Amino acid sequence: MNIPDFFSANYAEARTKFLSACENRGLTVESHLNDTAKGANGEDLYMDVVRIGPKTASKILILSSATHGVEGFCGSGVQVGMLTENMLTLLPDDTAVLMIHAINPHGFSHLRRVNEDNVDLNRNFLDFDAPLPENPDYADVHHMLLPDDWEGTSFEAAQAKIDDYIEEKGLSIFQAAVTGGQHIHDDGLFFGGFGPSWTNKTLRAVVAIHAADCKHLAMLDFHTGLGPYGYEEPIYVGDPAGLSRALDWYGDDVTSPEAGTSSSAIVRGTINYGICESAPKASHTCVALEYGTIPVLEVLEALRADNWLYIKGNLESDQGKAIKKQVRDAFYCDADDWKEMIWKRGISVIGMGLAGLEKET
Ligand SMILES: [Zn+2]
Repeated sequence: MNIPDFFSANYAEARTKFLSACENRGLTVESHLNDTAKGANGEDLYMDVVRIGPKTASKILILSSATHGVEGFCGSGVQVGMLTENMLTLLPDDTAVLMIHAINPHGFSHLRRVNEDNVDLNRNFLDFDAPLPENPDYADVHHMLLPDDWEGTSFEAAQAKIDDYIEEKGLSIFQAAVTGGQHIHDDGLFFGGFGPSWTNKTLRAVVAIHAADCKHLAMLDFHTGLGPYGYEEPIYVGDPAGLSRALDWYGDDVTSPEAGTSSSAIVRGTINYGICESAPKASHTCVALEYGTIPVLEVLEALRADNWLYIKGNLESDQGKAIKKQVRDAFYCDADDWKEMIWKRGISVIGMGLAGLEKET
């Protein structure tokens, strides 16, 4: 199979490729149906899970895709390629790999970064009984992000306000205000939800089954949309105490939003918290892999357009179809050179994760 063929044109095709690659390797897939939603073509939506390696392994590497829905083209391609090329047959002793395909199948199918409830799942893994993180700056930008129309005077006025905000405060402050996460506007961007999502509950249950007693857990969660075209940024997430281990395993390329070295803003409620809480006995080395596509302002513009479309626009209109293409293009560079860059970097970093786990005793 050619490398570009590991990647798919849509969620349904990605799922079919993943399932058949597992079947060809004699692997049993656990499929978790999201019975609260349907796909863009009415298809059922699943989080599919496969375990490779011994049931009793005390070390586990989680490889997950599509936490941010439309970003799933990338991670799914790497997962399908790893299975197709039979690259996980010679795992180190006492080690298992848990592949989770389509953490957010609804967003993958509908070409959205959010889930069926407009929730950004990487802002949703919080203790909802405790006070939620505040992002007062979001309130200042919300009305600029969601104009009444996507063209004409209302659009132009909102655009001018955004330009003024960036001019006055800088791009990084604007990016943090928009992307840091918020729990106030459920019609807004980077909304973290008012309670645990289907994915939150399902993922916690999956990890509890497979890793409740493990001693060492590593996570590589595949994302796109930040950084230069095809570039890979390993972003350490979670307990600061684990950062030195991540640097040891993956090298000096590892960044940290808290340390100000990442292209990502500081965010709370990322999926690694749910994963770690479901494997409480383990050391945790969790990394979000960001693969670059197009410039960040264009990515934010696509997300803003998509949010507007679902709140105020018409999906069936020419404008709606153009916005959906804009979103897909922002998170998936459907080009052979990009896919080959993703594949090469992806298998390399997975190898580093396995080698890192092997060092732990
Ligand atoms: Zn992402």
